[in-house]
Amino acid sequence: MLDPFGDEAKRLVREEFGGINELLSIIPSYVGIDQAIERVSWIKSGEIPEEILKLGDVQDLLTFYALLGALAFSPYGIEMELVKESNARIYSERLRRAGRIEGTSIALESVSGNEIPIRDRTILERTHHQELPPGERERLRLKYKIPLGKLLELWDGSLKEVYIRKGYAYLTEEQGLRLWERSFERNFERAVNLLYEVRDELPEYYLRLYERLGEIAREHFKERLERMGSAEAQPLRFDLFPPCVKIALGGVPAGLRNYAITVLLTSFLSYARLCPNPPRRDVRIRDCVSDLSIVEKEILPVIIEAGNRCSPPLFEDQPHEVKNIWYHLGFGLTDKPTLEDSGNSTWYFPPNCSKIRANAPQLCRPDRHCRNIKNPLTYYLRRLYLENRGKAGGDESAEGGEENG
Ligand code: SF4
Repeated sequence: MLDPFGDEAKRLVREEFGGINELLSIIPSYVGIDQAIERVSWIKSGEIPEEILKLGDVQDLLTFYALLGALAFSPYGIEMELVKESNARIYSERLRRAGRIEGTSIALESVSGNEIPIRDRTILERTHHQELPPGERERLRLKYKIPLGKLLELWDGSLKEVYIRKGYAYLTEEQGLRLWERSFERNFERAVNLLYEVRDELPEYYLRLYERLGEIAREHFKERLERMGSAEAQPLRFDLFPPCVKIALGGVPAGLRNYAITVLLTSFLSYARLCPNPPRRDVRIRDCVSDLSIVEKEILPVIIEAGNRCSPPLFEDQPHEVKNIWYHLGFGLTDKPTLEDSGNSTWYFPPNCSKIRANAPQLCRPDRHCRNIKNPLTYYLRRLYLENRGKAGGDESAEGGEENG
């Protein structure tokens, strides 16, 4: 089986297609939108169609990456949840049928006959229990091993469930599959974050595919959406902001003020509050709200206060900087904007982490959630998503379970 994040898939993407960007640009000529949608639409019935389970490697890779490309428009939305869930199930089923977890992105080794002491095998695999049916016996068998350090990066259960010996963890088939699923989820998120950076360059095809995914996801997660609300615009959660934004909010010294307040904070707060998942970068504030009250009551005061916390205070020192804030919000250089002015300049998108590190390294103090994050806005969306997922499942510790490595 071809694991879309395994070495063989990476080789195919690199050598046969010339890299991920090239792959994404040719997909629309090879995969129809309906065809890509078939990879997720079966979720309603719960039964994976045989023709999807039996797709050839290249076609499989193309349809899977078509969906990943579409997710670049909304990382951490319900569309991502839908694609992740349906594809994890497709690949798990293939692995189950193959009876071996091989050629995947996790380095599981087969266990040889004599490396586990007979006494331990007798207890763990109940080898003397003749009454056990063959299926049950197979289920108990320790088939794989993996270095303990690698297991700890991914394992979300208790270590008591795992047999550990001489630096290795020994796993049954089910435990191996569980580990693979964790690895799939992690690689999946990583890939969506990477594609988020190039979404402006993606063909229109992916936006249309994303819209179709949204329709199925809203139907599939209907109950959950009713319980937790969607990842649409909602009041800001300051506690979930990334470290760079929190530093900017606290006020910064003179050399950093303009970047921290006008460039980072203004773009971050406005997109996070008004349009967390912009379908394209030339979106205007008037595309997202029908009046300026949220900007004037919830966003501007936070920016002004953060500016006043700088030393020396930004807007006392440079009163014209308020016009620059409106400029960065897309209203042109003004201090008395109307909604119709939105679009007179570009509504600046939050800079990517690499830009922040290059232009204002003092702002970037990554915490554990920054891992694999390429933009402060996706940091925030990810934490909102984890928070909502925890609430929806009634599991307050969802976030802790997410971060084992
Ligand atoms: S890694 Fe990115 S999100 Fe995290 S602190 Fe640095 S700039 Fe901010």
